Amino acid sequence: MGELRWQCCRCGWVYDPIEEKHEKKYNRFEDLPKDYTCRRCGATKNQFRQVEAL
Ligand SMILES: [Zn+2]
Repeated sequence: MGELRWQCCRCGWVYDPIEEKHEKKYNRFEDLPKDYTCRRCGATKNQFRQVEAL
């Protein structure tokens, strides 16, 4: 079992909690603020979908 990852439905960018942990205090997607947006295209949080960890 691995960390859950989330993919942006608009641009396909994947939120990887392992990578994010190095830059921000948030690591789990669920813990991100409601106003979080995709860093690549600006999509809102509800436009992300859960994907299986590779
Ligand atoms: Zn995006």
